[in-house]
Amino acid sequence: MSELKRYERPIINKQYSGFMNKFGTSPITTPKTEIDGIAVNHLVEQFGSPLFVMSERRIRENQRNAYRIFKTRYPKVQFAWSYKTNYLDAVCSVFHSENSWAEVVSEFEYDKARRLGIKGDNIIFNGPDKSREALVKAIRNKSKIHIDHFDELYLIIEITEQIQMKAEVAIRINMDVGVYPKWDRFGFNYENGEAWQAIKRIMANKNLKLVGLHTHIGTYMMSAEAYRIAATNMALLTRSIRDEYKHLLQYIDMGGGFASNNTLIGQYLPAEQVVPSLEQFADAISSGLFSLSFSAEDLPLLILETGRALVDDAGYLITSVLANKRLSGGKRALIIDAGVNILFTSFWYKHKISPAQECGVYQEEAAIYGPLCMNIDCVRESITLPSLKQGDKLIIEHVGAYDMTQWMQFITLRPNVVMVMEDKSTELIRKAETLEYIIERENLPAKFQKK
Ligand SMILES: *Cc1c(COP(=O)(O)O)cnc(C)c1O
Repeated sequence: MSELKRYERPIINKQYSGFMNKFGTSPITTPKTEIDGIAVNHLVEQFGSPLFVMSERRIRENQRNAYRIFKTRYPKVQFAWSYKTNYLDAVCSVFHSENSWAEVVSEFEYDKARRLGIKGDNIIFNGPDKSREALVKAIRNKSKIHIDHFDELYLIIEITEQIQMKAEVAIRINMDVGVYPKWDRFGFNYENGEAWQAIKRIMANKNLKLVGLHTHIGTYMMSAEAYRIAATNMALLTRSIRDEYKHLLQYIDMGGGFASNNTLIGQYLPAEQVVPSLEQFADAISSGLFSLSFSAEDLPLLILETGRALVDDAGYLITSVLANKRLSGGKRALIIDAGVNILFTSFWYKHKISPAQECGVYQEEAAIYGPLCMNIDCVRESITLPSLKQGDKLIIEHVGAYDMTQWMQFITLRPNVVMVMEDKSTELIRKAETLEYIIERENLPAKFQKK
């Protein structure tokens, strides 16, 4: 028996003169029915909905591509995976197997990297909050400690005296790169001489070894020029350190922040048209580093802590339509089973959202709401989609960065995460949460317990 064609309820579209109408162009929605060759239906049958899916193949491609792009422009390149962007063990492990070090911004992330077998000296420890215990650990393991402020510098000096060990340190530097508001709350300022003060303090201390300089000028940066300015400043400082102290730094760490191909809310053109390519970022950084004018063997290693640009498009969220609705003004609304509690990035991105099955030709604007009983749970104010019925699937793309770290249990729990492996097998890399998981952490005072 041949399958019945899908019934499409007719809709009436008002035509306005002077505007695009049914005789003009309309957006074409092509369904996306598989991820890396695995049918979406199959994934949902096996792992449920909503479901996060990570692509091993895409992560590897992205990392290799980025390495090639930088390595062809500057001779010594090392990537360090930004844990906070996505710290699922499986995801970090793919990056580490592509030769990436770990870049962490908390003790918990630090411990997670150690657990995955990352050597202490391949861990970069960033961030404004490093406890005494965390610093002791990092010093003993010879990790690269990127100092954020003078109080941290003094604490490190004190610890090294106490435990009689040397610490490998760098300082984080903030500067004016022509992008506003300025990110000046992290690290030491370049323009007002604070960074140089910190360098002097470090160079004067026998227990501290200044191994590098670090900057991270912002996130989702759309200006390659900002990186050229930053790299130039870093190169000039590195040169001053050589000239003043006859001391060669091991590395310059340019941080992360390259924009990914996700369109910001309020941005008119799609990301593919406005986001600079990795080549442009790499050109800018390598041209800034020319200011070093060092001989080849004296050149410092260039470290990159690229996060979102390497993982965003390797993540997908499969979600199901729970209901169709009409708002009081007549606007179409869809309710889906994935809310903003697991899709934090919907507060700033207009994600690409595609139906995951064959669909009809009629398109209509719709708002997409999540399942939470909260007015803020709006996944998308407005998107043009074909008609969808209850149970139909949608794929939300480019959700590999920050969603799986900033998600929360709020009204609903976090769902399964699977990885489609290079050989097209699928692995569950994080189990959906359960009520038991939630209450395991709770403690009910005895007087409330039912005997
Ligand atoms: C968050 C962060 C990164 C990664 O930023 P992306 O915008 O995801 O590339 C790198 N370095 C530091 C210090 C960070 O805080």
